[in-house]
Amino acid sequence: MNVLIVHAHPEPNSFTAALRDQAVETLKTQGHEVQVSDLYAMNWNPVASANDFSARENPDYLVYALEQRLGVKKQALAADIQQELDKLLWADLLILNFPIFWFSAPAILKGWIDRVLVSGICYGGKRFYDQGGLSGKKALVTVTLGGREHMFGEGAIHGPLQDMLRPILRGTLAYVGCEVLEPFVAWHVPYITDEARADFLRSYQQRLIHIADDQPIVFPCLSQFDEALYPLAGNR
Ligand SMILES: Cc1cc2nc3c(=O)[nH]c(=O)nc-3n(C[C@H](O)[C@H](O)[C@H](O)COP(=O)(O)OP(=O)(O)OC[C@H]3O[C@@H](n4cnc5c(N)ncnc54)[C@H](O)[C@@H]3O)c2cc1C
Repeated sequence: MNVLIVHAHPEPNSFTAALRDQAVETLKTQGHEVQVSDLYAMNWNPVASANDFSARENPDYLVYALEQRLGVKKQALAADIQQELDKLLWADLLILNFPIFWFSAPAILKGWIDRVLVSGICYGGKRFYDQGGLSGKKALVTVTLGGREHMFGEGAIHGPLQDMLRPILRGTLAYVGCEVLEPFVAWHVPYITDEARADFLRSYQQRLIHIADDQPIVFPCLSQFDEALYPLAGNR
């Protein structure tokens, strides 16, 4: 299996980086090919702009997704986007590895999503969810956070973790067609002992060794909806 790890943490020696390294080592040992995009180390530009296209359909008014489609057709995407897109299309498994910032991903990773998941390849028209352009690929979100496990869930102070991660799990990864696996979560990371952190690294290693057995989270299929995307009877 080809695996792309997109890593977003500003500190090279962070615990989140240790999870990345654990993944690289474990997956390679299992015989998988692994590439890493270390966004801070790459000085990744997260800002979607007109500079992302060397040729434009409409030079007077920027409709970003339309220009992405033309950029795909005319090979007019900026080089940094094209390089990441090539890695993404090569991958069978995409791992997003990051610390939770404000119930979400660090801006640098959000900008990778904005610029690399291009319309025309990853989605477009009615190509989303099970019909998405990346269908056939798997995706895993690996996160560290400050909060404790009991703070997440139905009735818990922050609500369910999947609600917090919904824009990434559903609005991004499932939307473009990936089979989205249950996130791997390291809780309360800065406040626990080294040994407790080492336990998270060991659990992650075991999770990755058995990743092929993981069952994806269930999301809608377009076949459950009519042409106008109203739910068909029986799916309401
Ligand atoms: C802007 C911002 C917004 C945030 N928003 C939220 C939020 O909404 N919800 C939330 O819960 N949290 C939030 N946080 C907290 C953040 O998610 C956590 O601080 C972060 O995930 C901790 O992971 P880390 O990799 O940064 O840990 P680090 O601080 O890098 O590491 C923690 C400790 O682990 C040690 N360590 C490093 N490598 C290893 C290793 N191999 N083995 C054992 N120990 C090791 C380090 O030396 C350090 O002592 C936010 C933080 C910021 C900065």
